[in-house]
Amino acid sequence: MFELDVLECPVCRGPMKIIAEITEPKVIKQFLATMDLPTEMPEVDRARPPPQLDFDWPEDVEGPVPAAPPFDGP
Ligand SMILES: [Zn+2]
Repeated sequence: MFELDVLECPVCRGPMKIIAEITEPKVIKQFLATMDLPTEMPEVDRARPPPQLDFDWPEDVEGPVPAAPPFDGP
């Protein structure tokens, strides 16, 4: 299930048909370059660190403060 129907024109919603299937990476790069589109993969951002599990309580808070689990960094 796709959000985009590749067989429907996004402008007039008329039917479209597949005229070619390009699977060769070298040809895909040439095709994209001809259309002035990026030919390299975008750089992937680093994964975010795990969310903070506990609040940093001030010293004068009464009651036990659960210790945060050890975190070895990303
Ligand atoms: Zn159209």
